[in-house]
Amino acid sequence: MTEAVSAPTQENQATPAKAQTNVEFANCDCCGLTEECTPTYIDKVRQRYQGKWICGLFAEAIKDEIIRTERLISTEEAMVRHMNFCRKFVSS
Ligand SMILES: [Zn+2]
Repeated sequence: MTEAVSAPTQENQATPAKAQTNVEFANCDCCGLTEECTPTYIDKVRQRYQGKWICGLFAEAIKDEIIRTERLISTEEAMVRHMNFCRKFVSS
């Protein structure tokens, strides 16, 4: 009964300090906010919003705009609407 359970050394599991979380700064097309995002995420947002990058706050606002509008509007239209609203807000 000498079944030595030699557990593999767990120490190798420690992730090196240099993880592969390379992030880029994305600039919101609406309010100019800069967010740190992974390139994958940036790409996903750009695809959804006709090549523009918008911050999470703005994305929510666009969703809201679509819901609030009685008729069906496209994401692009909602984006333009909200961007106009945002610009008025920022440029004061
Ligand atoms: Zn924004």
